[in-house]
Amino acid sequence: MKLQGKSAIVTGAASGIGRAIAELLAAEGAAVAIADLNEDAAASVARGIEAKGGIAMGVAMDVTNEQAVDTATERVAERFGGVDILVSNAGIQIVNPIHEYSFAHWKRMQSIHLDGAFLTTRAALRHMYRDNRGGTVIYMGSVHSHEASPLKCAYVAAKHGLLGLARVVAKEGGEHNVRSHVICPGFVRTPLVDKQIPEQARELGITEEEVVRRVMLGGTVDGVFTTVDDVAQTALFLSAFPSNALTGQSFVVSHGWFMQ
Ligand code: NAD
Repeated sequence: MKLQGKSAIVTGAASGIGRAIAELLAAEGAAVAIADLNEDAAASVARGIEAKGGIAMGVAMDVTNEQAVDTATERVAERFGGVDILVSNAGIQIVNPIHEYSFAHWKRMQSIHLDGAFLTTRAALRHMYRDNRGGTVIYMGSVHSHEASPLKCAYVAAKHGLLGLARVVAKEGGEHNVRSHVICPGFVRTPLVDKQIPEQARELGITEEEVVRRVMLGGTVDGVFTTVDDVAQTALFLSAFPSNALTGQSFVVSHGWFMQ
């Protein structure tokens, strides 16, 4: 058990990548808060972890809402006795060419990805800085934190922005024993990606099979999707890493789609 006695908050953990991370951190001994907009699904993931002997709680959290983030973080810290690990993972995707991208959609994307990252970080740091307890903040970036793709102006801008936030957290957090990283996955088959396949096919005028083969996997070394477990194992490695030697970094998990 690599995380015995630690407590973690994973946002967007009712589904996909966040869920896999929450389940793995819990299996390694961490008490894990499943924070999500979808309260019922979060509670169900928490019950699943508890059924396997882990410690978990579901918590309603809209990461774009300052009050909701602060209140939920306080609840978790009170129940688990602090916050050692934050995985800021909640995210959505809206694809459209820039000239047709609505300002409302642009703002919604920045709000979930960047406001959400800032608000959850601020709330968690208040606990990590207390008595120099320290901790690890992990952002869910993307290959799109480094690369651009058509149709994804808001996503690419927001995911690039997370690199900057993570580096500031690393610099400010060092003296408090807080590290910060960005995990940058390639395409992972989750509801977020499944929704995009027909949308991209329509926008690009190609078949869904071509979207998968060319757009999503064309840049990989082996034509294989990254899995939720690949990403969860990376989050576990970073959460359990014992020193500040690793901080302010981005870890690309993408079958070689992007090499830094
Ligand atoms: P998903 O749709 O399976 O899960 C996203 C979760 O976030 C859902 O449970 C949803 O309810 C929650 N959520 C959405 N808005 C929220 C809000 N305002 N407050 C709290 N929770 C909210 O998606 P996923 O593929 O697991 O994506 C998770 C993260 O990984 C996202 O940040 C995404 O950008 C990133 N990512 C995904 C891929 C991929 O290929 N799937 C690749 C790189 C990065």
